[in-house]
Amino acid sequence: MADPAPAPSPLEVDDVRVSIDGQPILRGVSLTVRPGERVALMGPNGSGKSTLVRAVVGVRPPTSGIVRLHGADLAGPRRLVPWRRLGYMPQRSSAAAGVPATALEVVAAGDLAGWRWRPRRGVADRARTALDRVGLADRAADPVHILSGGQQQRILLARALVRDPDLLVLDEPLSAMDTASQRATTDLLAEFTAGGGAVVVVLHEPGPLGPLLDRAVVLRHGRVVHDGAPPAPAAGHDHPDHHHDHAHGDTDDARPGVLDVGAPLPDPSGVR
Ligand code: ADP
Ligand code: MG
Repeated sequence: MADPAPAPSPLEVDDVRVSIDGQPILRGVSLTVRPGERVALMGPNGSGKSTLVRAVVGVRPPTSGIVRLHGADLAGPRRLVPWRRLGYMPQRSSAAAGVPATALEVVAAGDLAGWRWRPRRGVADRARTALDRVGLADRAADPVHILSGGQQQRILLARALVRDPDLLVLDEPLSAMDTASQRATTDLLAEFTAGGGAVVVVLHEPGPLGPLLDRAVVLRHGRVVHDGAPPAPAAGHDHPDHHHDHAHGDTDDARPGVLDVGAPLPDPSGVR
């Protein structure tokens, strides 16, 4: 008998384009994430990182191109797509406070995957285990809107973990977290990847996750402009109070040898 085919990559993105209201946002993005690989997705505000992440998790189907999860085309029959193997943590602003749900409910919602509408048995137990992993077991009954920004981020991470995925897609997971939460999250992701899990993480700069990264993919104006070594850590950017809205092109980040992933966008009319 022939050798079995190698396991397909957890994630393959092939020439994905996304237009919104006729405006091209992603202009042909391709990338592959291999098993256990830890890939940062970087680039300036508005470069298309969150749009790519939404396309990858099936929330925003591409206008053209293919996304494959463990070899299964997301646009194909839904029952063939292994949604349970994917955990998604959206950017916090898109899951803002004000939802009158408890922490446990928000986390349990992450277990309702794909074509199966009925919750699996034991969902509450799994949700409690996931809350425990992010250190918030004692907040299970609290409404999420009373929690701090960093705690809400950890709730969203627990929601991404509740299915016990082997691919985590995280959109700016450390934003709004204090140093202790950032450290706990970094440790958790290190443990996750040590167990063979792959991670795609949107970041402004490597920060505390830098040592974990295998690769960085940098977007600009909806295109990949770099796919390779992650950037060196930038001095002064690890502090949780550091603001990310300034024009990095005017700072040390632009010095040679360091990827310039934060330059300001030109006038949006020139982007589209
Ligand atoms: P990033 O995450 O890199 O900051 P986004 O993917 O959020 O970038 O946005 C990329 C571009 O697409 C921006 O110009 C943004 O205004 C636009 N965009 C994203 N989502 C929408 C939407 N739902 N409607 C209109 N424009 C959008
Ligand atoms: Mg974004």
